[in-house]
Amino acid sequence: MQQSIKIGVLAFHGDVIEHILSLKKAASKLNLSMEVLSVRTKKDIDHIDGLIIPGGESTTLYKLCEREGMLESIKKIKNIFGTCAGAILMAKAINNKTKDQKTLELMDIEIDRNAYGRQTDSFEKPIETSLGNLLAVFIRAPKIKSIGKSIIVIAKDADEIIACEQNISGCYYLALCFHPELTSTLFHEHFLKKISLNFTSTQS
Ligand code: GLN
Repeated sequence: MQQSIKIGVLAFHGDVIEHILSLKKAASKLNLSMEVLSVRTKKDIDHIDGLIIPGGESTTLYKLCEREGMLESIKKIKNIFGTCAGAILMAKAINNKTKDQKTLELMDIEIDRNAYGRQTDSFEKPIETSLGNLLAVFIRAPKIKSIGKSIIVIAKDADEIIACEQNISGCYYLALCFHPELTSTLFHEHFLKKISLNFTSTQS
């Protein structure tokens, strides 16, 4: 029998329900057996194959993970997909950070927080990506300012990198500056496909 892939969505704040729904639609399009769970404690992390870190506020998200003693367990997850504040949490370096702001330091990217201005400067626009086209929603979004050698760029807005991925030490990371969960399942499908490839190779 096909084993289910288990995906967690960090559920402190942000588009938790929208990510869960996008994952379910993506799994059904791929005809993949998948379970989704909301992650709020360290215990929830046991046995998940991948985690989505939704947008929200990166300082708060980090502090809540720290309060729950989840930081080290999150760093051990093999597949992580961060959107907006989630992407900020994955970056090794951040500009325009709040005092003493820390991240999980997973991806070789330098990210500019609030790079488009204030909340009222949020916007949406159609973009092209190497996975296909979609309407991208930018909510007080960051920009990826520089990348390490092993980062693959998936989308740019003019000259700015807004989506990228990295395979590093057996882990897969995906970071987006916008909110795909509001308009598309393209990136959720991509994330699930990456996990299911590893899943199949480690199960056989
Ligand atoms: N500006 C937020 C931060 O710094 C991110 C915004 C978002 O996730 N939509 O964390």
